[in-house]
Amino acid sequence: MRQNQAFVPTLRDVPSDAEAASHRLLLRAGFIRQNAAGIYSFLPLGKRVLDKVQQIVREEMDRAGAQELLMPAIQPAELWHETGRWELYGPELMRLRDRHEREFALGATGEELITSLAREVNSYKRLPMTLYQIQTKYRDEKRPRFGLLRGREFLMKDAYSFNTSIESLDESYQQMYEAYEKVFTRCGLRFRAVLADSGEMGGKDTQEFMALAEIGEDTIAYSDASSYASNVEMAEVIDFYEKSDEPERERGKIDRTTFENAPASKRLQSRLYAVDDRYVLVVLRGDHSLNEVKFRNALSARKIELVDDKTVEALFNCDTDALGPFHIPDDVKVTADYAVRHLVNGFSGAGETDTYYENVNPERDFSVEAFYDLREIQEGDPSPDGKGTIRFARGIEVGQIFKLGTFYSETMNAHYLDENGKACPMIMGCYGIGVSRTVAAIVEQHHDEDGMIWPLAVAPYQLHLIAVNMKNDAQAETAERLYETLNKSYEVLFDDRKERAGVKFADADLIGLPVRITVGKKAAEGIVELKVRATGEVREVRADEIETVLPELLKSLAGE
Ligand code: ATP
Ligand code: MG
Repeated sequence: MRQNQAFVPTLRDVPSDAEAASHRLLLRAGFIRQNAAGIYSFLPLGKRVLDKVQQIVREEMDRAGAQELLMPAIQPAELWHETGRWELYGPELMRLRDRHEREFALGATGEELITSLAREVNSYKRLPMTLYQIQTKYRDEKRPRFGLLRGREFLMKDAYSFNTSIESLDESYQQMYEAYEKVFTRCGLRFRAVLADSGEMGGKDTQEFMALAEIGEDTIAYSDASSYASNVEMAEVIDFYEKSDEPERERGKIDRTTFENAPASKRLQSRLYAVDDRYVLVVLRGDHSLNEVKFRNALSARKIELVDDKTVEALFNCDTDALGPFHIPDDVKVTADYAVRHLVNGFSGAGETDTYYENVNPERDFSVEAFYDLREIQEGDPSPDGKGTIRFARGIEVGQIFKLGTFYSETMNAHYLDENGKACPMIMGCYGIGVSRTVAAIVEQHHDEDGMIWPLAVAPYQLHLIAVNMKNDAQAETAERLYETLNKSYEVLFDDRKERAGVKFADADLIGLPVRITVGKKAAEGIVELKVRATGEVREVRADEIETVLPELLKSLAGE
């Protein structure tokens, strides 16, 4: 492609709200443009990257035996009514009506649609089956931000497996796991597969693929000595606490200041939650924080909500600040984190306004109905697999694999006949990759202060051919000749613009193609310069030897 004609509108300045490096650089280099909050156009260079990522995803899905189809982005509401998700999904689901007042959703995900198709399969002989599509998805995100990382319209690969047994589901899941590892490796990402919360009661297997990056919205807890990695949302804290052998002292009243000055690890914090239709007081150590996902899962609850001061006052006749596991009304249950069980001579609110206790000891002074692992894991905690210590890293969720079970097949009547002619619900898995988010994640990991540094496999072009001065005949001729020959075997962006050299080099760094070929003053002697964007490595090569040098160089860049 000749850059003189190319639609690559580079920018000097970007909007100040573009916080993420990928957002800034993709805008500046003319890869994307925003059309509305969280809604983007992919300009020609951006489209080429998106296509390459898509192609990698497609190849690995096909290799794993999945079949590609394409479902509409507009989905009839009736299907969402079948599963009840029309009501459950909330404002993220974009809804619309046609001229006949029929309701539709813009697909936020595709379980309903795919199940409506797959239920045509009625024999065990056709299963297992994995279907996938690469299709635009819509979510009216509360906070679209960071450019392609959290959009309201984005490209997703969504795959669904239909199985006849748990073992078969495990196999499909494992195949997808391996395909995801290949996809993200080929995209040049550093990533970890982490355990995640299924958001469902009981918890089904699910893992998220996290591209490691500071801008990531998720925190990953990983072991420094094993392969353990989990989303902090649900990272388990084992009951590793040891009770001190300090003798239990007599409990006594203290004032608020004394309570507040006690060491956090000896102070109890108590909070009242509405858990579905009952009240639960949850007690934690002062230096720990409640993990609401674990709390909800521990109580097998659908909904939990911290209650307001008024409700506390009405139930306990006490200020929220002085809440504690004392003076508990009959209909309130007390739960606590494991760490509380090991506390000796602690401090706590007394369940009476402005009253606090010292030398509080569990069992002796108050009772707890059940102890659970309820707190957020912290750096320095032991890894739950018993190996090593927990460290934190930030990650961008680029994909997720999920064992769904039979929720969709049961609500939507997707049954098959087994060997004995008995109708059974299909067992399902679903597997998503954020294709457009992956493009941004790649930039987050591969850039420097001058611009992007595309890994070869996803670069919009492999080579950036630059004629330093198009007005110089020797340079223009050499560059034109090279362009013609290289274009036959490589993807070449040819900067044939009549711009200053400085502008061209700056743009080349910004766009970040893997190899730059500069035709400059030495063109008269038949010599050009090769530069590797990632390392800055430069060497001079005879123009007529380029074709012998390039294959080796590109191979090494591809990591082969
Ligand atoms: P998140 O927690 O980031 O909101 P999610 O868990 O709701 O994502 P999934 O339903 O698992 O998303 O969708 C599959 C994949 O689609 C995600 O792993 C992510 O890569 C991508 N994705 C989800 N929401 C967005 C979005 N708003 N913009 C871009 N990509 C997204
Ligand atoms: Mg997810």
